[in-house]
Amino acid sequence: MMYAEVVFNIAVPRSFTYQIPDNLIHVVRPGVLVLAPFGKRELTGVVVASSDKSGFADCRDILDVVEDFPLVSTGLLDLTSWIAEYYLCSWGQAVQLALPRGLDQKSVRKVFPAVPVPDTLDEITGNLRHLYDMIFREAGRDTRYFRKRFGSGSFYHALHTLEEKGLVSFTQIRTTPRVSTLFEKYIIVPDPVPDNFAGLREREMIRRLLAEHAGSEYPASGFQSLTGLSSGRIKTLRQRGLLKVVEREKVRGYRTPYKEEKKDIVLNPEQRSALDQIGDSITKNRYGVFLLHGVTGSGKTQVYIEAIKMTLRQGKKAVVLIPEISLTPQTVGRFENEFPARVAVFHSRLTLGERYDAWRRIREGRYDIVVGPRSALFTPIDNAGIYIIDEEHDTSYKQDDPAPRYHARDVAVYCARKQNAVIVLGSATPSVESYYNALNGKYTLIGLNRRINDIPMPEVIVVDMRREGRRPGKLNTISPFLETKIRNALKNREQIIILQNRRGFATFLQCRDCGHIPLCPNCAIAYTYHAHKNVLQCHYCGNEQTAAPDCLRCGGKELQYKGVGTEKIEKELRQLFRGVRVLRMDLDTTGTKGAHDTMLQKFKSGAADILLGTQMIAKGLDFENVTVVGVIAAEVGLTLPDFRASERIFQLLTQVAGRAGRGEKTGTVVIQSFSDQFPAIRHTMTHDYNGFYHQEAERRKERDYPPFSRLILIRISASGRGDALDTAKQISHRLRVGSRRLFQVLGPAPAPFSRLKNMYRWHVLLKLDRSRDRNGLRSRKLINDLLGSYLKPAHNGIRVVIDVDPFDML
Ligand code: ADP
Ligand code: ZN
Repeated sequence: MMYAEVVFNIAVPRSFTYQIPDNLIHVVRPGVLVLAPFGKRELTGVVVASSDKSGFADCRDILDVVEDFPLVSTGLLDLTSWIAEYYLCSWGQAVQLALPRGLDQKSVRKVFPAVPVPDTLDEITGNLRHLYDMIFREAGRDTRYFRKRFGSGSFYHALHTLEEKGLVSFTQIRTTPRVSTLFEKYIIVPDPVPDNFAGLREREMIRRLLAEHAGSEYPASGFQSLTGLSSGRIKTLRQRGLLKVVEREKVRGYRTPYKEEKKDIVLNPEQRSALDQIGDSITKNRYGVFLLHGVTGSGKTQVYIEAIKMTLRQGKKAVVLIPEISLTPQTVGRFENEFPARVAVFHSRLTLGERYDAWRRIREGRYDIVVGPRSALFTPIDNAGIYIIDEEHDTSYKQDDPAPRYHARDVAVYCARKQNAVIVLGSATPSVESYYNALNGKYTLIGLNRRINDIPMPEVIVVDMRREGRRPGKLNTISPFLETKIRNALKNREQIIILQNRRGFATFLQCRDCGHIPLCPNCAIAYTYHAHKNVLQCHYCGNEQTAAPDCLRCGGKELQYKGVGTEKIEKELRQLFRGVRVLRMDLDTTGTKGAHDTMLQKFKSGAADILLGTQMIAKGLDFENVTVVGVIAAEVGLTLPDFRASERIFQLLTQVAGRAGRGEKTGTVVIQSFSDQFPAIRHTMTHDYNGFYHQEAERRKERDYPPFSRLILIRISASGRGDALDTAKQISHRLRVGSRRLFQVLGPAPAPFSRLKNMYRWHVLLKLDRSRDRNGLRSRKLINDLLGSYLKPAHNGIRVVIDVDPFDML
């Protein structure tokens, strides 16, 4: 007998033992995706081990395999096992990272009323009767559908009772995978064409036609229109051996409309010295973490490219992570120009099919370089010799939901160490954590302190908006100073970038008479007003409603548009500068595939004067003709109760400022602000990363925040107000009692957004003491044991989530 240990995508942190049926013995190995019975359902899971012994007397059989080769390599099995251990989730959840999306299958149970209706129907009343009637009316729907409609937690109990009384029956249906390989038919004309024309209609015409195309191959559809032959004729010709049909895989790929011209670049001395340091580890196949701190426009990308070339010469491969938002065609284009046909690109806009094909081709070893967002870390590239994490400070490297809540930079450091590879963390504004590690000698710090060609850093000017008078008849989002700068740039045919990190028109509406602010009923957060659709939209749950002209509470006639979104600024720009060409780039305008790329191409070609947008315009863009960068309201987000708020604003401002003056002409950055107190704004003015870091590190040390401690955040949410709080209290009590002084327990406290999507939210925060538990291993184990019972799926609709090294503190 052979047994397999299988993990599933569920929160229960263990594997399950199955017997391997004889016909699958040679196929089932670690890494293979299998279909197995799970409770009353069937689920796909990954085999993590196999053996000829089992601790259980009666195991169920594996039903089938989804693919007959391992989808997850042993390397990725090890990695995901470590992720599960570190980020406190199940291996089954972690291993999802390594699977191509869309291959999972499961069974659903469809419910039918029994016919004829048994007499036991008279025995049921109330809730049971209600459920029965629902099933009777909508026979054949699956159990999940009814559970949703039924609502209460006792659904399965009710359903089971109906089954016992013989009132309902079930059938199991297995879903098919959502993705598969795409094949296309091709027609081949043999060469020479066999002489088999006897008795054929229009013999001579066909003979000539085939002779003309002898030895060629066409897609079936193309061949028909090319030759005008009907499908019936083609069939006849096939039967006579005059045509052959083959099926070939069609590779689905996405090509951007954006073009980046290839430049020949010789590294400058600073870049050279950076490369020498990194290259030393590459050629010695030695593990090393390099923090490449290079000011904006210092040419970091070129250093990455040269380091990758060295790695390829060592016979190894490269993984390049870029935050989704700056995964611009510009950056991707540079890599593709340097390494034609050797780069696989991943981004969130790929279809399932495109993603699957890229995944399979990586697995076949056709690419040397994978470029993508955090998920690209888990593609089946073998033998990676270098990991590059561009904009390493970026928050998109942290996955918030679902589990595993991992940080791709930290996972990449682990990967590099495991494989004796090199890892380069690049940023103009390194995260406080990474810089701390560099100063402590854990990482090697490399500086690029000057821009390419000694182009000066842009001048940064802060405009104090409290001193700006309100000009009648204007929207007053743009100060006269910024207005003048924009006007001059327009006159000189230069381009402008404007940042406002908030989409929509106004951030909220407020009644002048009673002060009422319309709130989303699900989230208790102010609606954002969108002028072009005249709707109020909740940016947390997406809920939308038409904006009423009057106050809904007091009927007041005068609603004020408070706060400023990108839409409002677009309007003011058009009012101030007649005929100006503005491109607005935010979530509302980049929803369709390729929209982002097309906009950038347009701006680059000079078909627009102003690029206006949210944070998605702040990073990575390299346009030489931009001389003015304006920030409408620097403090957006600064007052959020998040210990990283100040760091984030500093990063955002420095990054966007770095878009100015990258060519021959000097750049100016105008930052509008209602306060000059924030260190984030002051240090941006002087391009003083060090100043900012030391002030920020000091503050964190005082309050014992990372990097001086480790945090684990436990989020508890429930639809009932009392349920959430009760559970939060139990959890914090249990942790306090069991902590063995390895960590400090704070809370429960209501989350800063204490209600979202109809859920009440509470936080319990753990601060791990670095001196007692250096790598946090003992604490994590303890927390896992203490909280295990709370992690079972949807225990009374109460959701408990553990977030290790959390980024989202709201
Ligand atoms: P960063 O990512 O550090 O902001 P980039 O890598 O975008 O900087 O480089 C800025 C610009 O300088 C790019 O247009 C790049 O092609 C160019 N560049 C980089 N290195 C050199 C070099 N050694 N000589 C000339 N141009 C360079
Ligand atoms: Zn909402």
